[in-house]
Amino acid sequence: MSKGTPSFGKMNKNYTHIRCPRCGRHSYHAAKGYCAACGYGRSKRLRRYSWMNKKVNRVRLR
Ligand SMILES: [Zn+2]
Repeated sequence: MSKGTPSFGKMNKNYTHIRCPRCGRHSYHAAKGYCAACGYGRSKRLRRYSWMNKKVNRVRLR
């Protein structure tokens, strides 16, 4: 397989992520059965981490 235009024809075959039912992002892993963005299918709560937003002097910056 070569890089570039010839290999672009394979881009609509065997998708990895589909649209998530909960967050609506294109991050739901079809085979694993969970969302990489919000954790749907893996946990009941939303997938959140402290490093997702930067904090300067304990004030949250978006
Ligand atoms: Zn999601």
